[in-house]
Amino acid sequence: NIKAKLVDKEGLDRILTRIAHEILEKNKGSKNLVLIGMRTRGEFLAKRLQKKIKEIEGVELPFGVLDVTLYRDDFRTRLKQPQVSVSDITFDINEKDVILVDDVLYTGRTVRSALNALMDFGRPATIQLCILVDRGHRELPIRADFVGKNIPTSLNEEIKLKVEEYDGEDAIYLVEA
Ligand code: 5GP
Ligand code: MG
Repeated sequence: NIKAKLVDKEGLDRILTRIAHEILEKNKGSKNLVLIGMRTRGEFLAKRLQKKIKEIEGVELPFGVLDVTLYRDDFRTRLKQPQVSVSDITFDINEKDVILVDDVLYTGRTVRSALNALMDFGRPATIQLCILVDRGHRELPIRADFVGKNIPTSLNEEIKLKVEEYDGEDAIYLVEA
């Protein structure tokens, strides 16, 4: 059910290099930044951004993880609700500029839950959203500050993002659901 390979290993690396520069440009350096990845693949993408920013600026940004679980809060609804918990953030996010990293942005519900979880946890100066693939179909007024690639999908298409650390390969595929 793979329709196309949209991005290969080199392409993914170039995207992350570009985003690392965009983050540093927008924030005038790395001084106040922290990185938070959304489990599972957002975590690995955030780690790679941490490495790239270290190569560029010589600074290792604090790195944390938010855990997302999908659950059905009501048997009448078909939609699964994303529930996000603060799972591994061992530093203070108060007054920080938080870069929240996820792999794919779709309806926006996961990000909304992530924002709630972060706000309960502390009071950041800003929260900026970094997404590798925006596939459209938003149901909430949420957009990303940093986007790897806009891939408008039809409703029967999905994105398969693979990362070496977890999937043994770096690639973005368009698949038929
Ligand atoms: P949303 O909450 O915006 O509807 O969906 C975003 C979350 O679901 C992200 O955490 C993302 O990992 C996952 N997701 C939604 N659509 C896709 C997709 O087409 N491919 C992948 N790999 N993940 C998706
Ligand atoms: Mg996810």
